[in-house]
Amino acid sequence: PVRVRFAPSPTGHLHLGGLRTALYNYLFARKSGGQFVLRIEDTDRARYVQGAMASLMKTLDWAGLERDEGPILGGPYKPYVQSERTALYKAYSDQLVQSGQAYRCFCSRERLDHVKEKSRQAGKAFIYDKRCRHLSEQEIKDNLEQHMPFVVRMKIPDSGKTVVHDQVYGKIEFNNGGLDDSVLMKSDGHPTYHLANVADDHEMKITHVFRGEEWLPSTPKHIILYRALGMTPPEFVHLPLLLNKNRTKLSKRSQDVHVESYIDEGYLPEALINFVALLGWSPPLGKSEVMSMQELVSEFSIEGLHNSNAMVDKEKLDWFNKQHINRRCETESGVASLVALLKPMLPAAETVNTRFSQDEYLAQAIRLLKGRISHVNDIANKCQYLFTKPDFTSPASVQFKNKLSLDILFHVQSIAIDVLQKVDEPQFNAETLKPLINQEPRLAHLSHSQIMMALRYLITGTKVGAGVIETMEMLGRDEVMDRLAMIH
Ligand code: GLU
Repeated sequence: PVRVRFAPSPTGHLHLGGLRTALYNYLFARKSGGQFVLRIEDTDRARYVQGAMASLMKTLDWAGLERDEGPILGGPYKPYVQSERTALYKAYSDQLVQSGQAYRCFCSRERLDHVKEKSRQAGKAFIYDKRCRHLSEQEIKDNLEQHMPFVVRMKIPDSGKTVVHDQVYGKIEFNNGGLDDSVLMKSDGHPTYHLANVADDHEMKITHVFRGEEWLPSTPKHIILYRALGMTPPEFVHLPLLLNKNRTKLSKRSQDVHVESYIDEGYLPEALINFVALLGWSPPLGKSEVMSMQELVSEFSIEGLHNSNAMVDKEKLDWFNKQHINRRCETESGVASLVALLKPMLPAAETVNTRFSQDEYLAQAIRLLKGRISHVNDIANKCQYLFTKPDFTSPASVQFKNKLSLDILFHVQSIAIDVLQKVDEPQFNAETLKPLINQEPRLAHLSHSQIMMALRYLITGTKVGAGVIETMEMLGRDEVMDRLAMIH
């Protein structure tokens, strides 16, 4: 059975890249009827951030990435937090030392810094010079008796190659000579990432490892460790880099890297998920790009993953958000969910229109504006006229007015007041109003767009919005009559 894990380190908020890794794990598990495990890799105590684990899980919940096993959920291989599994790593480390596949290194910080400096001067990447590999039994015994601190290092074979067969990147050969005898156990008794990761993936019966391509250079070491422990390595599935729009690496410092900032900006979870899914994976040919989580699950496959670095383009994300707003508008409950999102964004609880309950009014606004907005909060931010009288003094409004002919504006205003005041509230709907305006002889010398622009200005003060007549219906007769009289 397929078992996959998302194994974040609790060093801060979840990144977009982390969300993508978690998503692919989830999709693959659901698609193949397997299990999705959350494991917290908190062995690097120096980088540990209080509260990061809770915030991570909250973000995964928001995105709909339910786990089968994990820190809170528990499961057959608990605990799922590495700092609670130290004894296990110690046992593996001891086993490796006893079998001669790892060794104690007593080198001091000073010595290591010296070696590092020398390799820097020679223009080489630092790898440990393996001095402690060659300590005699007696030297080791003496050092231990003197309580000299030590780390445990893995013993990389001196020659030959280690081959990684990656499901996305293909076959990659690493010369063992270029691999570092990495530390497995630190002097404080904590394991490093390499040991804990390999031990847990084995213990937790993980079959496929999905992770960012930055871990590819570690993979040969992991394969060597699996072999040293007599274990079969899992399948490796490395994922391409995420890039900013200017093609630089999306780093921790980039503005749009934290999932939480997307949540705060009001993106729908299904839109962000859809967007992230396509950063490294393509649906089968002929399939629409707009997909729900359910659709992603049924279409996902490792074959659809690719290794070309993916650009994070926010305009594309906005487009997805718009598509998913439209999708939610297809059902009553979908509209209601958007109303619930919109409500807290509105400054004043009062609507200008008392014919409707606030919820009904908001639902109507959403239905009317869908297809024109990429964010639910656009309704609150760009269509304030739905909730308060237009602000004719705003720069956008002044700019709009400057484009209109005042002759036409005042003419349309007086005719509209004359025509509309004869319509009673029950008939005040788009169906009735359209012919009255369009067939009014006193407006016949104007183009349709001249009439609509003037009305739009008079009633909303802004260019952004749905059809003017539909907007008038929504605002209701009294409100429209009030607004028509605002400009003199
Ligand atoms: N703890 C690593 C991380 O933070 C996990 C890498 C892996 O999946 O092996 O990304």
